Amino acid sequence: MPQHSGNIEKICILGGGTAGWMTAAALSHKLKGLPIRIELVESDEIGTVGVGEATLPLIRKFNEALKIDEATFMKATEATFKLGIEFCDWGKPGDHYIHPFGDYGQPINGIPFYQAWLRLRELGETARLDEWSYPILAAEQGRFQYPTTDYNTVESSFGWAYQFDASQYALFLRRYAQANGVTRTEGKVRQTFCHPETGFVESLKLDGEQTVTADLFVDCSGFRGVLIEQALETGYDDWSCWLPCNRAIAVPCESHGELTPFTRATARDGGWQWRIPLQHRVGNGHVYCSSFISDEQAADQLLSNLEGPTLASPRQLFFTTGRRRKFWNKNVVAIGLAAGFLEPLESTSIHLIQEGITELLQLFPDTSFQTSDADEYNQRMGLAFERVRDFLLLHYVANQRESGEFWLHFQNLKLPDSLDEKITAWMTRGHIIKYEFGAFLPPSWLAVLLGQNLVPRGYDPRVLAIPDATLIAHGRATRDAVAATVARTPDHGAFIRQIGAGSDRAPLVARMD
Ligand SMILES: Cc1cc2nc3c(=O)[nH]c(=O)nc-3n(C[C@H](O)[C@H](O)[C@H](O)COP(=O)(O)OP(=O)(O)OC[C@H]3O[C@@H](n4cnc5c(N)ncnc54)[C@H](O)[C@@H]3O)c2cc1C
Repeated sequence: MPQHSGNIEKICILGGGTAGWMTAAALSHKLKGLPIRIELVESDEIGTVGVGEATLPLIRKFNEALKIDEATFMKATEATFKLGIEFCDWGKPGDHYIHPFGDYGQPINGIPFYQAWLRLRELGETARLDEWSYPILAAEQGRFQYPTTDYNTVESSFGWAYQFDASQYALFLRRYAQANGVTRTEGKVRQTFCHPETGFVESLKLDGEQTVTADLFVDCSGFRGVLIEQALETGYDDWSCWLPCNRAIAVPCESHGELTPFTRATARDGGWQWRIPLQHRVGNGHVYCSSFISDEQAADQLLSNLEGPTLASPRQLFFTTGRRRKFWNKNVVAIGLAAGFLEPLESTSIHLIQEGITELLQLFPDTSFQTSDADEYNQRMGLAFERVRDFLLLHYVANQRESGEFWLHFQNLKLPDSLDEKITAWMTRGHIIKYEFGAFLPPSWLAVLLGQNLVPRGYDPRVLAIPDATLIAHGRATRDAVAATVARTPDHGAFIRQIGAGSDRAPLVARMD
């Protein structure tokens, strides 16, 4: 039963992790001028997950919308630029490829370049498609600059994201949100009170008898889902049958390697290991499935594959891959880990937080809480989660290993129909079905499909109408242009300093020289 129609006057955000403060920052900025109070409740005793350090390019839109200065934000969060993710040993041991945030080559007669490349291979071309990718070559050579807006040049063909200290990002946004009038209440929610008839959440009782009331509650309480699950019992779709990894061990270490403008994900026996280079340290973690490898083995593998001494004790995290059955239920909208979790293989969690906030603002309710708004929100967010799930699963199923129980398990997996259709279209025709909704565009799928050795049997027949000599000349000219442009691109560390985003901490400067 909906409540009476009226404007939302009070929002309570429960949780002060990345999700909570991103929500607080965005709502306080976008709802500025309206008579709406925003209160964020967080518990110091419980703390945050705080390990999300790698992002997707759309985070720039979030920061831009909040008018956050890039250099100031990068300095505050020890951020580096990210041009993509390097995957080591995924198709089979010894393989490596980069999933870049950008396209390959220049289209020819309106046909994507990779189709021409498939034809060029038949004509004897041996170069990998990567040679036509500016972000891949720049990443491999440790270089970075901003793209241009001249869409006829290779310098325009990419985007960038960041690798940053997530706890510092939350603090940065906390200062931002508080400056915009968000109030912060420290305390642990002991009890949630719901309306006896509608079931809508009415108030939260905190330690020390304090009570917090609101019209709209945004549940950013992490895996617990204090409101969406513990109070409203919304239910959770468990996706472990597809993505079985259920644990992670995270540890930062000293930076002794290069300040790479990319994240690395290396396949291991029962999962995979991440390396995320920040300005002052490297974030590392091992994501694994406890049915295939013990916690001790997982910790040993992680600690024996670090480039420098650890800077903190390893931290263990437990999770179940999946999504909340409803992200928006009654007057509660779950954002962040409270909404669901997909392993960080493609750095998607912060992106899904951003999606959740954007959709909430677009469908911002009044106190009648129309079911149609919630339904629309749930449909959009459900698709966003499913698209990410399929993309992550592709990395696992496209493996050609001959041993290893964990990896062989994926070779016989029954796939979701949406992914099955996508792989079939690719293998038969070299066609990448474009999803409506979803963070990953065709070049991302292309990177993983080819990077994991799924070469299609066919290609777009329209390339056969282009004379071979024209195709060959186009291929050579565009490849040379990429190589020449990358060669004049500045060093990644030097570029960070050049824009005034360099950390004040000493090791960084030495590291980036
Ligand atoms: C191993 C791992 C690696 C990850 N890597 C990445 C990555 O590289 N990129 C990426 O985008 N994402 C990554 N993520 C996800 C990312 O960490 C989260 O999406 C992000 O931190 C948001 O978390 P959150 O704010 O939803 O929850 P949390 O950080 O758990 O915050 C929950 C908040 O709720 C509060 N709270 C909980 N219960 C109560 C209560 N009863 N009373 C009062 N307050 C309460 C807590 O105090 C806290 O403030 C990773 C996650 C994991 C587990």
